[in-house]
Amino acid sequence: MRDKAHLNTLLAAISDDPAGSMPPPIVQSSLFAFDSYKAFEDRMSGRTGQPIYTRVQNPTVAAFEALMADAEAGEAAVGFASGMAAISSTLLAFLKPGDRVACIEHVYPDTYRFLERMLRPLGIEISYHSAAAFEDEPDLLRGVQLAYLESPSSVIFAPMDLPRVTGHARRHGALTVIDNSWASPVFQKPIALGVDIVVHSASKYISGHSDTVAGVVIGSQDHIGRIRDLTLPLLGAKLAPFEAFLLIRGLRTLGARMKYHEATANMFVDRLAGQAGVRRVFSPGANTVPGLTGRSGLMSVEFDDTVDIPRFCDALGIFHLGVSWGGFESLILPARVGLAQAGQHNSMQKFNVSPNLVRLSLGLEDAEDLWADFTQALSQGAC
Ligand SMILES: *Cc1c(COP(=O)(O)O)cnc(C)c1O
Repeated sequence: MRDKAHLNTLLAAISDDPAGSMPPPIVQSSLFAFDSYKAFEDRMSGRTGQPIYTRVQNPTVAAFEALMADAEAGEAAVGFASGMAAISSTLLAFLKPGDRVACIEHVYPDTYRFLERMLRPLGIEISYHSAAAFEDEPDLLRGVQLAYLESPSSVIFAPMDLPRVTGHARRHGALTVIDNSWASPVFQKPIALGVDIVVHSASKYISGHSDTVAGVVIGSQDHIGRIRDLTLPLLGAKLAPFEAFLLIRGLRTLGARMKYHEATANMFVDRLAGQAGVRRVFSPGANTVPGLTGRSGLMSVEFDDTVDIPRFCDALGIFHLGVSWGGFESLILPARVGLAQAGQHNSMQKFNVSPNLVRLSLGLEDAEDLWADFTQALSQGAC
């Protein structure tokens, strides 16, 4: 029955707590004790699944992992302390010096910094390609060990035809990893489209409440087993039980929230098309590529030169300025702030992001209120 259930039904699954609680209990224990020498020895030799130590295994975290494996239609999942911990622990588990990585352009800025500042110095080669190049150049992945994908990408939200790209990857024996934070499993299930490993920043839509930083990786038993064997215990960036509890609470409403974000985003995309001051909108909708079934609330808008972006931002009343996204509150992030960010390997500069771009995260406020706020700020920002 559960095998065939729809996502919303899977995410409503109650815990198997013997006391009958709906959510799983928060098991706030660092270690788990054993009744007998034999039981301890059996566990240490891997003959039972009982938890030993929360760096590696914890019942509340396991409950979140089980929900995520179901949601993404994967065999197994492993939680992490952040999206970046999920990404770095995945890449380090599968790459070694001399390997080659092909990465999507406009990748999440800290993923770009991880590739450039930590993997390249270890002797791993990295190249960046557009979604169109991944689709149309069947030999792009020749000699590549790992394709790191986002569909849609960050910043300009370029979607890619995943069945096509994963077909090329299989022919060349390249492992495929995708960051599915934008779509969430509600709007895209990459494993069903041929991707090997899905990573998430669970800090975004999965949490949904702007109160948690977390990550998760989903894939086959073999792939997740390798991460559990190597980078989870040895780098130790584990998910905490309380965070896992908050994420489970977020997952209960994920389907309903994504539908609401989508309705507001569709309204914005329709109205922005005729809006003075707007040059371009970056927001892929349902069915722009195979397997993408909805539009999330994260999009970018490029203004023309008639808009004073700092003045526009300061005139907003409901939208707040800030990083992150996917919560209940609407946020705006101007690209110029990212372009001005100090330090090595600024991906906004590397990928030539327009200074006239702003990213919107449309939250769960009333859609008409959001539109009224956006347009009144636009008229105050006109120059
Ligand atoms: C936020 C984000 C991350 C990083 O996640 P953290 O939980 O902040 O570490 C990775 N990928 C994308 C697309 C993100 O937006």
